[in-house]
Amino acid sequence: MSTLEQKLTRLTAAGRFDLCSPGEGIRLLSAAPVINYNRRAGGCGRMLKVLLHGTCAYDCAYCAVRLQREQLRFTPEELARTFLGLWQEGLVGGLFLSSGIAGDVDSVMHEIVETGEILRRQGYDGYLHLKILPGATRADIHDAARVADRISINLEATSADRLGCIAGVKDYRQDILKRQAWIAEEKPGGHTTQIVLGAAGETDAEILSCLADQYRRVRPSRVYFSAFHALPGTPLASRPNTPVWRARRWYQADSLLREYGVTPDELRTVLDDGDYLPNRDPKEVLADGSSPVNVNLASRRDLLRVPGIGPKRADRILLLRKEKPFTGPADLAARAGVPGKAAGCYLTFGGRDSVQMRLAL
Ligand code: SF4
Repeated sequence: MSTLEQKLTRLTAAGRFDLCSPGEGIRLLSAAPVINYNRRAGGCGRMLKVLLHGTCAYDCAYCAVRLQREQLRFTPEELARTFLGLWQEGLVGGLFLSSGIAGDVDSVMHEIVETGEILRRQGYDGYLHLKILPGATRADIHDAARVADRISINLEATSADRLGCIAGVKDYRQDILKRQAWIAEEKPGGHTTQIVLGAAGETDAEILSCLADQYRRVRPSRVYFSAFHALPGTPLASRPNTPVWRARRWYQADSLLREYGVTPDELRTVLDDGDYLPNRDPKEVLADGSSPVNVNLASRRDLLRVPGIGPKRADRILLLRKEKPFTGPADLAARAGVPGKAAGCYLTFGGRDSVQMRLAL
């Protein structure tokens, strides 16, 4: 294996902890290095996720990069050339570029931006996601926003106190929230963030408050959730791993906030007595506490509260019921594609609204 291939293999392996899609996985291409496959990001197909620097001057207690102490690094020219080669061969369709903070933030941030600029100058017009480092300057954020399709800074934790438990060197308000506000101004609707669930011992009530603040203040297009996984040799090695289902439930809860018009206060009712999400679809939990919905009369907002009905099905129901009311479960399944199993307990079909007509399960 050439030195360049070694670098690519090791720096893509180190970069896999940053998320850029809820369902991402890792795929090995036969002759190529580790490529993170991302079906959703901008429709770009295979996403190359890689670090510019494999070492970091910071010492965040949950982080894999701090352990690796990789002295390997790409120069911007090297990485741009390597990526363009893979892209031209059709092996990758997008780039997610991050880095350990080797030395000072400004010089590494310049290199990240420079890599993006080289790629654009050389004709790369595909998907480009650049990571903004904590403490980056406004000028670098501006340049990254100009050159990239998407930029992101990781919150990692829900508050300054929580971050202090796991990454004391970062100033949550200055290095992260202030930068995130700049990012929101430079790239409205084109930025994301990530929270590591369970690393700092936060409750789901704290996560919910954090998300409510995010959507009110800076409106990220997505928040990614990674379940904390204890790495041997780190200060958090003895902390229990966060179950993966917690991340899955947070993706469901987050989509209720973003796409279904559920308010943070409504979502708070789903939490258990210990302020955690139960391991159950939060939409079902919410619907269990509500009255059945008349499918022929309900508003779009109310239809969206029914498990099994998403935005597309709700719109279809609104359209089709103008032609002819739905007569029952089979009619609803045949015309609007609503699965009886999911919607069964939560719908009525008119006439006597007080009588709930259960779909055949
Ligand atoms: S700053 Fe980032 S790369 Fe460096 S140790 Fe912390 S989380 Fe890891």
